[in-house]
Amino acid sequence: MIPYGRQNISEADILAVAEVLRSDFLTQGPAIERFEKTVADYCGVRHAVAVSSATAALHIACLATGLGPEDRLWTVPNTFVASANCGLYCGAQVDFVDIDPNSYTLSVEALRRKLAETPPKKRPKVLIPVHFSGQSCDMKAIRALSQAYGFSVIEDAAHAVGGAYDGQPVGDCRFSDAAVFSFHPVKIVTTGEGGMVLTNRDDLYERLIRLRSHGITRNPGHFRNPDAGPWYYEQIELGYHYRMTDIQAALGNSQMARLDAFIRRRGELADRYDALLADLPVIRPWRSPDALSAWHLYVIRLGDAVGKSRRRVFEDMRAAGIGVNVHYIPVHTQPYYYDLGFRPGDFPQAEAYYARAITLPLYYDLSETEQDRVVRALTGALR
Ligand SMILES: *Cc1c(COP(=O)(O)O)cnc(C)c1O
Repeated sequence: MIPYGRQNISEADILAVAEVLRSDFLTQGPAIERFEKTVADYCGVRHAVAVSSATAALHIACLATGLGPEDRLWTVPNTFVASANCGLYCGAQVDFVDIDPNSYTLSVEALRRKLAETPPKKRPKVLIPVHFSGQSCDMKAIRALSQAYGFSVIEDAAHAVGGAYDGQPVGDCRFSDAAVFSFHPVKIVTTGEGGMVLTNRDDLYERLIRLRSHGITRNPGHFRNPDAGPWYYEQIELGYHYRMTDIQAALGNSQMARLDAFIRRRGELADRYDALLADLPVIRPWRSPDALSAWHLYVIRLGDAVGKSRRRVFEDMRAAGIGVNVHYIPVHTQPYYYDLGFRPGDFPQAEAYYARAITLPLYYDLSETEQDRVVRALTGALR
């Protein structure tokens, strides 16, 4: 089976991990700081906070922006459940903004309309736009609305490590309060499991550091009681244990050396898919003129001319040994969200997109021969 995504591990990666295993620190040692600095420098952002997953990163990013039980978080339905669940973790109410039918990311028009129609008390405190498939959302327009309405923006950039927007790396947070990366093995760069929050805001950074480690501070400037001695620390809020290990950080840091090569190859393979699929009755990914996609996913939609159901095409491809996938089942249609009051039909663009979408295999080591096999299987399945 050709999978839809997979990691690339080099000898240098293995050596970097082995080096940590032979060192004094398995966790909270120098590798974390090195990895954070590498990513922050790559993105051109002031602060980077490595954590155990992007889900943890989203959770503490929401907490750091002050999201709480009286508040609302808006995101899109076309995403992994974590982009919405982070609001629920904070006790906030979650709502969705429909997607644009071409980009499959947040519709700025739908956001503008929904903000105007929503009474001030029910407007969001936090918006999480998702850079679906690796292509940035329209961040300038989103920033303008966030300034007009006074909400924070946390970019879910789990798919977009190494991508660019408006000529600058995704994660520079020029148009947001924070951005979140994932280092799960199917994503662009991996640490096994892992995530990161990026921000230019010093106040957020301080809280993020605390929240990833139990709400504990060792900074005497933040103590409520007198500093009792060199062993002393204070827990000043409720935090979590969301730390990344040095073993993981060493892998991530070593992977970062190949990030540009990863992005280049994914881009070449996406271009090649575009050419190979040109005559098939499928809709190829739309390309934003403002963004360079990191190409986490290559998603096609079955055109109206395809007589077969998406399920049949999907099953035929799986039977042919092609590990196709579907991204994403709209979050509001999940049973848990049904119980919160959402109903099918609430976000028609995300639902219409989902009904016809198929994710084709795309990863650094996918060979052109394998890619040709994918296209042959798709051609057969569409017949
Ligand atoms: C993968 C993913 C996450 C969660 O990442 P983890 O590191 O697995 O917690 C969040 N949002 C999106 C859009 C993702 O694809």
